[in-house]
Amino acid sequence: MKHLVTLIPGDGIGPEVTAATLRVLSAAGVDITWERFPAGAQALAEHGTTLPDALLSSIRRTRVALKGPVTTPVGGGFTSVNVGLRKALDLYANVRPVKSIPGVRTRYENVDLVVVRENTEDLYSGLEHVVVPGVVESLKVITERASTRIARFACDYARKHGRRKVTVVHKANIMKLSDGLFLDCFRKVVQHYPEVQPEEKIVDNMCMQLVMHPERYDVLLMENLYGDILSDLATGLVGGLGVVPGANIGDGMAVFEAVHGSAPDIAGRGLANPTAMILSATMMLRYIEENQAADRIEAALFAVLGEDGIKTPDLGGTATTTEFTEAIATRL
Ligand code: NAD
Repeated sequence: MKHLVTLIPGDGIGPEVTAATLRVLSAAGVDITWERFPAGAQALAEHGTTLPDALLSSIRRTRVALKGPVTTPVGGGFTSVNVGLRKALDLYANVRPVKSIPGVRTRYENVDLVVVRENTEDLYSGLEHVVVPGVVESLKVITERASTRIARFACDYARKHGRRKVTVVHKANIMKLSDGLFLDCFRKVVQHYPEVQPEEKIVDNMCMQLVMHPERYDVLLMENLYGDILSDLATGLVGGLGVVPGANIGDGMAVFEAVHGSAPDIAGRGLANPTAMILSATMMLRYIEENQAADRIEAALFAVLGEDGIKTPDLGGTATTTEFTEAIATRL
């Protein structure tokens, strides 16, 4: 079956890991027509906006996109394209599976957890203002509606994927109203899922627990900011940002992208690990019901990392992005 998918190569290492992913998808024989769009600084230069309407309407039409990372200026400059895209399309659930990979050596074994992050509100509301010179307020917005639907999403995910426990991560001891509401919504929702074991952890303790005993955790439910920070921490348990994929999911629409950013420190040098983007593409393939192709790509990728021992420099190897990609393509 032929599929139509929106493609945002992104910038920094985005075009490199995107090219690698397209090579692997084509070696696997998946029939996809891509609608390709720039975003961020490139779109601003070419179209006068960082998030062109044509890009948003393409995703509304195709219902599925594969996205490379897009740089966001620090401090001033334009607002995040990544946050803007998630909000514009109401992609409210960010799903990041963090799993030990055979052949990728880390300090931990048997890590297999999934970060489910609320993707539309919290301190990412973008509502900031100067009260008086030297005093700034950034608004943390938490609603019952968004907290309930992400709690439901996490519990449904656990049910569908046969996962036993959902741990809600919060700071409701200090932010009694905002995090209190998030926690309360989870407590109400989880009652309807008798097969799911609920657990509650305060975010600072959760950081320590993840570093000490990551194998004890299963599905982790978090607000936007905690989810952003702790998912980067979690990538460090299984080999780093180069290996963890992600999906931004809304109602009937999804954008797949790696957890990592545009990595300007290594961009354009053939050093980027495309694993995270390739695994994001396999999540996408499962979403469009190309399960067999997803299985074959994952098997080839894990064989290259494990049996062949071919790795990019972030995993201690010497392969370039292209050498690593060709090794996977050869196995398909
Ligand atoms: P980053 O994820 O780009 O890089 C952090 C570190 O991890 C760097 O040392 C980088 O070299 C390394 N790394 C990341 N991905 C890698 C890969 N595939 N292979 C090998 N090494 C890899 O984080 P950052 O430096 O904090 O952010 C850079 C830019 O990316 C910022 O503008 C940020 O806003 C943006 N960003 C975008 C997204 C997104 O598009 N979804 C996500 C996070 C950050």
